[in-house]
Amino acid sequence: MKVTVFGVGYVGLVQAAVFAEVGHDVVCVDVDENKIDDLKNGIIPIFEPGLTPLVTSNYDAGRLVFSTQPRHGVEHGDLIIIAVGTPPDEDGAADLSHVLSVATAIATHMQTPKIIITKSTVPVGTADKVRLKLREVLDELGKPTDFDVVSNPEFLKEGAAVGDCMRPDRIIIGTDSTKAESKLRELYAPFNRNHDKVIVMDIRSAELTKYAANCMLATKISFMNEMANLAEYFGADVEHVRRGIGSDPRIGYQFIYPGCGYGGSCFPKDVQALIRSAHAVGYPARILESVEAVNKEQKMKLFDYIYRHFNGHLAGKKVALWGLAFKPNTDDMREASSRVLMEQLWQAGATVQAYDPQAMDEAQRIYGSRSDLKLMGTKEAALDGADFLVICTEWQVFRAPDFPLIKEKLSEPLVFDGRNLYEPDRMLEYGLLYYAIGRGLSV
Ligand code: NAD
Repeated sequence: MKVTVFGVGYVGLVQAAVFAEVGHDVVCVDVDENKIDDLKNGIIPIFEPGLTPLVTSNYDAGRLVFSTQPRHGVEHGDLIIIAVGTPPDEDGAADLSHVLSVATAIATHMQTPKIIITKSTVPVGTADKVRLKLREVLDELGKPTDFDVVSNPEFLKEGAAVGDCMRPDRIIIGTDSTKAESKLRELYAPFNRNHDKVIVMDIRSAELTKYAANCMLATKISFMNEMANLAEYFGADVEHVRRGIGSDPRIGYQFIYPGCGYGGSCFPKDVQALIRSAHAVGYPARILESVEAVNKEQKMKLFDYIYRHFNGHLAGKKVALWGLAFKPNTDDMREASSRVLMEQLWQAGATVQAYDPQAMDEAQRIYGSRSDLKLMGTKEAALDGADFLVICTEWQVFRAPDFPLIKEKLSEPLVFDGRNLYEPDRMLEYGLLYYAIGRGLSV
């Protein structure tokens, strides 16, 4: 099938490459000329396991084409996917300007009927706005061309995006058109062979399903962080509590890890956006407001431990930091807990020596000019001359470090762990003072 994808970010690029891999003819359009140039030269602008060979082989085979020209994309695709960003605007609502500008471009260049698929995460009612924009521009240009607008939200996880697109656990199709439904079923047929994963519904329900999924996951995290905070007051260990409740299949073990807060480009913005949408219809969304408030505080948790430990005397401290990405297996630092921590440390006069297996270039891009951040080549180098260690991301390579070396290199034998990677008793055996979330201080 002839497919066009607008936006070659984490969603658009992965989905485009996966569609090309199964034989669809895909053109990707992005406004970022550097990204498109890089892609044409085999440079993949994001880190996502398994993505590079998929993009290069399909590019070489001519099934995946990159362009900055909307006309090229619109002329090519019978199915046009919108996968551009929907960042928060000043008050937290989703900014639809990129989505609507793609709608304008589609209407401007379309000469034949198109199925327009919104894959970006967009508030309920956006398909109506996209439809209206298309109709407006088509009318202005005097083109009576026909089109359908379908909601097809994306559920991939950064760090596992290729596998998630190859083997989706659900394919949500929000449409009121049987013709569009049939075309999307054909598009996704290669990924829908084992059992039927397609769930068809009306457009508004599809739009809300995406927010409901992310908000549910964020709620699980904030709930667990609240339990962690209570465990500290009560002298309990939240890791025992986690295993205790996870054993109930109605609760399950997934997504109940306490930690230093959720980040990334989705949970914070999607929780906020649904709160704003709720307010717009006069509904207070109390659970979601609490989820957001708990998370904001949780991102300050590591700094609180550190500040209290040193009675606020942090000026001149050199901090070793392991983990900059908002989660493992990605280079994405959007809304990462590490950023909140570093900014608090800098404000208190400390300097940071950081290591991350993938996010070093991104950290350089964001904070390059700062003299109080040094990016180090290995996790061991980050410890050189540091006063204590803080962990913000649960990368596999941090799970079994050389504890005697940590003790030897730090001026104080002190570890603040925002992801509960180690056993407190083991840390004591190694002579390390250990703070973990919801487990208090092990001394
Ligand atoms: P991203 O920021 O990585 O990529 C967005 C891309 O769109 C950028 O390359 C940008 O240059 C491009 N763009 C902006 N305006 C454009 C235009 N007018 N024409 C063409 N390209 C344009 O974003 P992302 O993480 O891929 O997310 C995209 C959407 O998918 C968002 O709505 C997000 O909420 C949603 N989503 C993201 C994830 C995720 O894990 N990242 C998962 C599911 C859904």
